Amino acid sequence: MEQHTDDINVPQILKNVGLRVTPQRDAILSHILKNRGHMTADDIYRSIQNVLPNLSVSTVYNTLKSFSEAGLIREIQFADAASLFDANAAPHHHMVCKRCGKLIDFYLPSTPNVTHIAKEANFHIEEMHIEVSGICSECANN
Ligand SMILES: [Zn+2]
Ligand SMILES: [Zn+2]
Repeated sequence: MEQHTDDINVPQILKNVGLRVTPQRDAILSHILKNRGHMTADDIYRSIQNVLPNLSVSTVYNTLKSFSEAGLIREIQFADAASLFDANAAPHHHMVCKRCGKLIDFYLPSTPNVTHIAKEANFHIEEMHIEVSGICSECANN
């Protein structure tokens, strides 16, 4: 599903989730919605610092945090790497290529076994993210 950024009303999206519209939020969310995929705060900072020269990495990071709290994007934390921010806010999982680092989204209709196991252990699941590692098709063919 390709969406053109011209059709996306970023200030309206911000207002809908109760966030005040600022030039920083506008530029950061526009960048994410235009490029989709998964990115770190650093990636975003580098991509838009020419648009907003006074921007700092920590502002980008804090803005991304508020976006993910508002449910606009999703923060994914891997054990020892910087948080990735995912333009896809729907619950989903990732296949991670060990060679190029690419993340491929995948969906599971439900995870009944895990839910059952957690219940047995009296464990309250807040969030579930399955990370499958391997080699992507592009890397396998090269
Ligand atoms: Zn790969
Ligand atoms: Zn994803």
